[in-house]
Amino acid sequence: MPNDSGYSKGMVVVAHADDAEFGCSGTVAKWCNQGMDFTYVLCTDGSKGSDDPGMTSEALAAIRQKEQRNACNVLGVKEVVFLGYPDAMLEASISLRRDITKAIRRYKPDVVICQSPVRSFVGRGYLSHPDHIAAGEATLSAIFPSARDRLTFPELLEEGLEPHKVEEVLIMGWDRSDINKWIELTLEEVKIATKALEQHASQLSNPAVGEMMMKGRARAGLAGGMLYAEAFKSILL
Ligand SMILES: [Zn+2]
Repeated sequence: MPNDSGYSKGMVVVAHADDAEFGCSGTVAKWCNQGMDFTYVLCTDGSKGSDDPGMTSEALAAIRQKEQRNACNVLGVKEVVFLGYPDAMLEASISLRRDITKAIRRYKPDVVICQSPVRSFVGRGYLSHPDHIAAGEATLSAIFPSARDRLTFPELLEEGLEPHKVEEVLIMGWDRSDINKWIELTLEEVKIATKALEQHASQLSNPAVGEMMMKGRARAGLAGGMLYAEAFKSILL
């Protein structure tokens, strides 16, 4: 099967374990199956996502790392980088920008999928998580200009990490008004994406995950004139 993205390396940068599975796992499943190398970068340690009074942050962080690795195994993602910033406290800091720049220079992705740095009020009943906004802002700032500029973060050059230019950015967020790219998915790819999401058992209170995934991808597909799809704002650099 030909690789329809035209790219050989991809990267997903998100705030939390499970964010990618909700937003772009079908696309990742499809492209990994077509032979692309994918790296996930998780900005936070996921240590706050539990209502269980018996759960500690340390235990939860370990559980969520394991769940994310399992999800990546389902999708065929080869590398997962955990930056380990405290959950719920993420800021679009220079430190975070440097860490993402480092990952981009190390793994050299052609395309990067990330979260929106803009708080959206388009959808109903969701406010955007501040960590998602921070992760999106830091990622876009790392892609342009830090990853490609030689003199920014000279300590990375000393580590042998040469500048790298990303070709395309895909911003997740299906309620956006500026969606301009739909990645078509087969039913099989939606099923793999669902199986990946199901690995995040500590975060799933809704047992009808499969139905939710199907409905979301069918809705995105409808807007793009397809049966199933994931939707993005694409920026070609
Ligand atoms: Zn999240």
